[in-house]
Amino acid sequence: MTDQLHPDIESVVLSKQDIQDIVDRLGRQISEDYEGKNPLIIAVLRGAFVFMADLVRAISIPCTVDFMAVSSYGSDVTSSGRVRILKDLDTDIEGRHVIIAEDILDSGLTLSYLIKLLEGRHPASLSICAFSIKDVSDKTPAVNAAYVGTHVPDAFVVGYGLDYAERYRNLPYVGVLKPEVYS
Ligand code: 5GP
Repeated sequence: MTDQLHPDIESVVLSKQDIQDIVDRLGRQISEDYEGKNPLIIAVLRGAFVFMADLVRAISIPCTVDFMAVSSYGSDVTSSGRVRILKDLDTDIEGRHVIIAEDILDSGLTLSYLIKLLEGRHPASLSICAFSIKDVSDKTPAVNAAYVGTHVPDAFVVGYGLDYAERYRNLPYVGVLKPEVYS
């Protein structure tokens, strides 16, 4: 049933198998690089929760998790990168090796603001693991991801945690929405 294409989806960008291969590779890389470091994996809600759940199960070393929630995609975010913290971390990150798990990196403004904020709390290290980066020819993200899953075309995509008006997060693949859905 879940393998049937949702009627609102125009095309599939990443299949279930593509996603699994990407996440397995990221998990292996992180496990090698953070051996003995007990990294703290942070997901920014809500979009990254699906990726985070898969990523930690692909990581074979001890690690812990925490979550933040910010207000996203408002006009403030696109212009200045300023975001409002709706839920802060419960973990003290001073001296910890922190990895931010991000669903999709577009302008990177949201993350660059969060990174400044988290760096002020003096983690031992701070890096980004982006499941996907949006390919936009005339701009580069404001932040560098140490771990990159894949690149997606410059279209509005949904599924695998990503929503349109809070829908489609549960699709097990990443796809492009049919234009009539949002027009
Ligand atoms: P940025 O600050 O990098 O421009 O935006 C990052 C956030 O915007 C992502 O974490 C995601 O929540 C949202 N976003 C960016 N592009 C897309 C997209 O194509 N589809 C969906 N559903 N959300 C997106």
